[in-house]
Amino acid sequence: MNLRGKICVITGGGKGIGRTIAETFVSNGAEKVYACDVDDESLQKVEQEVENVIGVHVDVTSPEEIRRFVEKVKESDGRIDVLVNNAGITKDSLVQKMEDEAWDAVISINLKGVFNMTREIGPLMMETGKGAVVNISSVVGLDGNVGQTNYSATKAGVVGMAKSWAKEFARKGAAVRVNAVAPGFINTPMIAHVPEKVIEGLTARTSLKRLGEPEEVANAVTFLASDAASFVTGQVLRIDGGLSL
Ligand code: NAP
Repeated sequence: MNLRGKICVITGGGKGIGRTIAETFVSNGAEKVYACDVDDESLQKVEQEVENVIGVHVDVTSPEEIRRFVEKVKESDGRIDVLVNNAGITKDSLVQKMEDEAWDAVISINLKGVFNMTREIGPLMMETGKGAVVNISSVVGLDGNVGQTNYSATKAGVVGMAKSWAKEFARKGAAVRVNAVAPGFINTPMIAHVPEKVIEGLTARTSLKRLGEPEEVANAVTFLASDAASFVTGQVLRIDGGLSL
């Protein structure tokens, strides 16, 4: 897979799956990767440890911060070739116990954040005539999960947006592709608080009998971001070790 010469933006790129995507993009030849995150410590670390990665504080819930960031990239690089909408959180509870705050927080980062970023960057890609957007969904957005009403709504939502944008951004002769990936349960800080018993149950239901690793998500995202996927748009790729079979 080849990302040579590409200017890439990854939200939530400071740690977890986002950081691994940044590393994988660079090792596949990306010219520059902007890791956008709200965790400044992890941004500093990724910038120091991974060549060609620039850590930038961008909160995906802030249209103003996003606008300023995109303006700066336009000035310095003139284009954005790849956008990975990866930033996401969970605030789980059964629906009858779910507070408005938990609903609103998850919607504003996982769903509106993806809209905020793509509203700025999608049209820029159309102007330059090409680009690739990858939304990080989840198997929970396709299959549902107990205690994840808010999260599943957002992860289904980013699939709907990917399909709409695959149609919208390909108008006027632009070769802007938009896809989504739906990981199963992946070994990152996000699932560190999930009880051991639940993890055991999940791995037992997974054909490959284990959790996924961030690299396995990053490899699929790299394929979709690269020109190797030049005729793939509006699709959802499950990366779940057979959990859904
Ligand atoms: P993670 O380890 O928690 O990393 C997410 C990063 O996004 C963190 O650095 C976080 O900062 C940052 N972030 C949070 N709010 C943000 C905002 N408003 N603007 C910019 N950045 C923000 O999570 P992960 O496990 O790598 O998950 C990455 C994506 O994969 C998420 O969309 C998640 O839903 C999806 N996913 C994960 C799994 C899994 O099993 N891990 C499975 C399927 C899908 P803070 O830590 O400071 O909040």
